[in-house]
Amino acid sequence: MTGKTHLIAGVTMASTIAHYTNYEPLALIISGAVGSLLPDICHGGSKIGRRFPLLSTIINTLFGHRTFTHSLLFLFIIAFVMNRFVPVEALTVGLLAGMISHLILDAFTRRGIRFFYPLKLTVRFPLTIKTGSAIENLIFTGLTIIFFYFLIHIVWVY
Ligand SMILES: [Zn+2]
Repeated sequence: MTGKTHLIAGVTMASTIAHYTNYEPLALIISGAVGSLLPDICHGGSKIGRRFPLLSTIINTLFGHRTFTHSLLFLFIIAFVMNRFVPVEALTVGLLAGMISHLILDAFTRRGIRFFYPLKLTVRFPLTIKTGSAIENLIFTGLTIIFFYFLIHIVWVY
């Protein structure tokens, strides 16, 4: 999946949560955007990897691509760190929602993810989508429509 598909999936997930809960929408959407890109810190060519090249290289060398940062373990660590150091529930929820959306999308690719890292088990949906394909574009468009639908509702309530 491309970075923009991850990004739109993260903010769509966050805005959906914002619509159905009382969490601060802006905090949810911003942290959802960050969370949607965070797992690809393991990949130097990704949006977030290019921003933090040193950190990205270290993580890639230690763990490889789509392993640790695409796992349940990493979700737990982020949840723990957020609760401990940034006790703003909306930010934690948004961040985790964005990350989960990323993992779901990557599980639709042929390479899959190592969700149960350090176990060497690849998690992948039976149907896979090629990065940059027409189906990915369709998903991107669908998510964009859903995002704006909820965004309009959120702004309306404000
Ligand atoms: Zn990824």
